[in-house]
Amino acid sequence: MLESVLGHTVMRKIKCPKCGKETQFAGNEFRPFCSERCKLLDLGAWADGEYAVPADPESLSSEDLAQIEAALEKKGE
Ligand SMILES: [Zn+2]
Repeated sequence: MLESVLGHTVMRKIKCPKCGKETQFAGNEFRPFCSERCKLLDLGAWADGEYAVPADPESLSSEDLAQIEAALEKKGE
């Protein structure tokens, strides 16, 4: 009885908010996404909306630029 309850919890599936694919919840380091790819794509979408056309590129800090570069780099994979 207890085992079946635990088993059910471990095998629980969630839906990836990015692609809608069912993915396992337990042991998924990218949750709520199904994969690292979906997680990064979601980050990329955020970066696009926020930084696609910076009003003043000079005002971006080097930290901002590093974040954008990292997001775009991962997106291209
Ligand atoms: Zn996904």
